[in-house]
Amino acid sequence: MTNVYIGLGSNLNNPIYQLRKALQILETIPATHLQNHSSLYRSKAIGPKNQPDYINAVAVLSTKLSPFNLLKKLQDIEIERGRTRKGKRWQARILDLDILIYGNMRLHTPKLILPHPELYNRMFVLKPLYECVPNLILPNGQRLIKKVQLLPEVT
Ligand code: ADP
Ligand code: MG
Repeated sequence: MTNVYIGLGSNLNNPIYQLRKALQILETIPATHLQNHSSLYRSKAIGPKNQPDYINAVAVLSTKLSPFNLLKKLQDIEIERGRTRKGKRWQARILDLDILIYGNMRLHTPKLILPHPELYNRMFVLKPLYECVPNLILPNGQRLIKKVQLLPEVT
């Protein structure tokens, strides 16, 4: 089993409901256990303006699935929840499920980058991650707590 951290986000169709629902569905992924999850955080959208605020959370999984099989399951869940992948980057979405960290794996392929390239920059990811695993050492060797102390509050 490999420890995996998933970032969840939604800013459409009742985001709080979307995240609660997504957490329930994560429990049904085969060969995978939902260990823990953070509370829900609110953040301002990045990218195109005039978007509703996001609700974000982090889930801790342990899985026997390969990173690519897990990504496929997450994308199936996004689609099941009604997400469409049209239009611009960073557009409003019903559900976004990103693999933040998959064990110690480092990967750079067109489909999957591990750790997630924005992991170190996004407070709405680092804060809920810190809530789940306060003593986590990030894949770059940095202590998560140091990183969280350096960044501003989530708005
Ligand atoms: P974003 O999450 O950046 O807002 P999308 O959810 O539309 O945008 O994802 C775009 C693509 O990013 C996906 O099709 C997926 O193949 C790729 N991707 C690369 N690395 C990851 C990762 N660690 N987790 C999830 N998707 C990833
Ligand atoms: Mg995504």
